[in-house]
Amino acid sequence: MSFTVAILGRPNVGKSTLFNRLAGKRLALVDDTPGVTRDRREAEGRLGDLRFRMIDTAGLEDAAPGDLAARMREQTERALAECDAALLLVDARAGVMPLDRHFANWLRRAHKPVILVANKAEGAGFVGAFEAFDLGLGDPVPISAEHGEGLDALFQALAPLADAAMPAPPPENEEERALKLAIVGRPNVGKSTLVNRLLGEDRMLTGPEPGITRDAIALPWRWKGRRIELVDTAGMRRRPRIEEKLEKLAVADTLRTIRFAEVVVLVVDATQGLERQDLTIARLVADEGRALVLAVNKWDLVRDPKATLADLKEALENSLPQLAGLAAVTISALEGKGLDRLMQGVVAAEAAWNRRIPTPRLNRFLAEVQERNPPPLVAGRRLRLRFATQVNVRPPTFALFASKPGELPESYRRYLTNLLRETFDLPGVPIRMMLRKGPNPYAEDGRRLR
Ligand code: GDP
Repeated sequence: MSFTVAILGRPNVGKSTLFNRLAGKRLALVDDTPGVTRDRREAEGRLGDLRFRMIDTAGLEDAAPGDLAARMREQTERALAECDAALLLVDARAGVMPLDRHFANWLRRAHKPVILVANKAEGAGFVGAFEAFDLGLGDPVPISAEHGEGLDALFQALAPLADAAMPAPPPENEEERALKLAIVGRPNVGKSTLVNRLLGEDRMLTGPEPGITRDAIALPWRWKGRRIELVDTAGMRRRPRIEEKLEKLAVADTLRTIRFAEVVVLVVDATQGLERQDLTIARLVADEGRALVLAVNKWDLVRDPKATLADLKEALENSLPQLAGLAAVTISALEGKGLDRLMQGVVAAEAAWNRRIPTPRLNRFLAEVQERNPPPLVAGRRLRLRFATQVNVRPPTFALFASKPGELPESYRRYLTNLLRETFDLPGVPIRMMLRKGPNPYAEDGRRLR
């Protein structure tokens, strides 16, 4: 069984363009014979990490005008009967046409989740997107199928529906998939020493002269049977010519490296404490949505471990609230100490990064939190968060539905994020939270998402 999406709408709104865009290169035409069946095409669609079966009801463009409404109705109903969710396309440039209203009426009666999509909304072509509001199918998602714009919003609308319709896919075989790891940090904190220790051979030269290789490479190895691929972009160890260029250079190189990675180990020098540049890199990792583990290196040189740890903890709490609970592992790359703990932290961070929290658990959590500590009153009224669902992993991304999402204070959003992190064990992982307008999209009386 797979999640099935029907693409519906009157002729020329861009159904086929969207169909082809979502099918990507693997476009497979089934039912491509002339006659009745050519009214529809099927293919596997993909959007973000979603996979689904698509039914496209294109082909009506050739129908004789007299037939059109009847055939369209028949076809739409057939597609509706089979699908788990429907995308109703309208043309944002042309505005809402009488036929669009027919479709909206059919769909309202179908009791299937519908996402209203305002296509051709690239550039300034938005007028029709606003008109589409009064089709009574919720807020339209503006996209441009032709230019590939707005697909992230479409993903966000579709993902919770797929989540609700389908059980979570079985996890990939942990033994087989390589964990992509990057080791980053300022020059001379001990990255090369650490990499050599982990890989158990002198692949890189360490010492006061930093930087040997040039290109990004992946070094495969295993830790306790787990396949790891160490991403290495040598630029990190290039020595900058002028001192003030150092920070800029490191940031650009680090960004390149972490984009290859799933988990990032940020190496800092315990004898120097957390420096501004360390924090800059940590924020970069969070902004890129990667899981972070902090390796506090050169621990062999630390005189007062207790005080050093306390300072570090304080600096982290003050400077990196978006990564609360971040694992900080003290190591000595030189002496090979703490490396197992470090790798345990890496594997745990990856697991958290991939964690999918079932929607019912999330909503129990949401109800409990609001009961214990309701959102503050805004203009005398209490904002209620009605529904939550995890729309993505890597990193964990949540959608919260409220009647007036704009009124949720930032402080409450932070409070929720931190509780979510604690409750569902997501340390060191950036959490994305989107507030969306709308009722519970799965409630009986309003099965629509938006
Ligand atoms: P990179 O620029 O971050 O790759 O740093 P390197 O690995 O080249 O290390 C810089 C210097 O720090 C070298 O002289 C290393 O021997 C030294 N170093 C690295 N790790 C440790 C450690 O755990 N303890 C001590 N005492 N020195 C270290």
